[in-house]
Amino acid sequence: MAIHEECGVFGISDPRGDCARTAYYGLYSLQHRGQEACGIATINDRELSYHKDVGLVGEVFTPELLHQLDGTMAVGHVRYATTGGTRRENAQPLTLKYVKGTLALAHNGNLVGTQELRTGFEYRGAIFQTTTDSELIAYAIAQERLRCGSAEEAVVRAMKLLRGAYSLIVMSPQKLIAARDPWGFRPLCMGRRGDAVIFASESCALHAVGAQYERELEPGEVVVAEGTQVRSIKENCAGASSHMCIFEYIYFARPDSDICGQSVHEARRLAGKYLARESAVDADVVIGVPDSGLDAAMGYAEESGLPYVIGLVKNRYIGRTFITPGQESREQAVRIKLGPLRSSIEGKRVVVIDDSIVRGTTSRQIVSLLREAGATEVHMRSSAPPFIAPCYFGTDIPDREQLIACQYTVDEIRDMIGADSLAFLSLDALHRIAPDAKCGFCDGCFTGKYPIALD
Ligand code: SF4
Repeated sequence: MAIHEECGVFGISDPRGDCARTAYYGLYSLQHRGQEACGIATINDRELSYHKDVGLVGEVFTPELLHQLDGTMAVGHVRYATTGGTRRENAQPLTLKYVKGTLALAHNGNLVGTQELRTGFEYRGAIFQTTTDSELIAYAIAQERLRCGSAEEAVVRAMKLLRGAYSLIVMSPQKLIAARDPWGFRPLCMGRRGDAVIFASESCALHAVGAQYERELEPGEVVVAEGTQVRSIKENCAGASSHMCIFEYIYFARPDSDICGQSVHEARRLAGKYLARESAVDADVVIGVPDSGLDAAMGYAEESGLPYVIGLVKNRYIGRTFITPGQESREQAVRIKLGPLRSSIEGKRVVVIDDSIVRGTTSRQIVSLLREAGATEVHMRSSAPPFIAPCYFGTDIPDREQLIACQYTVDEIRDMIGADSLAFLSLDALHRIAPDAKCGFCDGCFTGKYPIALD
């Protein structure tokens, strides 16, 4: 599937230092959330240093760079551009110097209705260097800082000006501040390694640096770390309502992460089980489309009693530099990314589980790969309901015209992709895939109903 998450964020406050290296490992484990650019900013003795560039975490940083960056606080970012384009100056953390000192900021999400806010700032003399929402947020915080007594108060006040999705980590010379929008669209958790304080988009990043997961930030909450001391500010939690992106469980997050108390792997497995209950079919084997279809395929197999086998092997070395062919050779792209395992498939009736179907082009090619490898029947199942609307909150789910489910019925899509049968997870089941999650959900791309009124 070719939907992308916008970003991943990571922050650490540890008076013993070595924070740049920890941020590097944290970002490495969040690489799935953004592969276009990355960066780390650190504070050492109130001095801000940073390095950011276009590229993967392993390409952008060297041991020498990490050594130079060393500090007692760090904030890091991996980026996939949904607004602002893939330019080096759009890489984060965003850093700025103003009369109150310095600020570094890492942001995951997308704001909505920013034009008025941006124009208002511009009329008051702001000159923006980039086209990103993140710069707008940094500017709002810097402006509020001039009117109040502390960086955290400035963050709390700036949040009242913003609408949309933002999980933020902000670093001032003395404090590391994490904040989550009052709708709680994007995940943001905190943990401890010893007494060091760590914030991250997903718990897999805490695990990667040897930290213990403590909890998800509440929608609207601001948490301030000063050295090893932590303070929570809940001024913006009043009236907040929880709308975590439900697609994090289906596709974006890593399966070894817990989000809002719910294991992502277990959510995907449950989605597969519900699919098996809702759309059982006579078949010989169940396979998943790597990577995010695999957990759901296991769940489908468990529930249906059919054997789960590896049927498609993913080329692990397809990265950012892969030159995507034009429309006419998209088939070539899928062939390079996925190889069918003939010994699992030949002569079999195959149920294939993918995480979702966007335009239908990839599904068509997968069905054709499986038939070429000798499948006698191919039954396509999607562990998400059909996409019927775009996302405005930090992912690139496209406009309705490009969403196949907006144009055609399920039977028509089945014929277009060449499958023997096709079924999607129901909306009702989607809402039951995360029983342990202590949050509500956004399901806007599946229902067209969003938690925020859009202009
Ligand atoms: S619209 Fe869809 S992808 Fe976007 S935040 Fe809501 S559930 Fe997630």
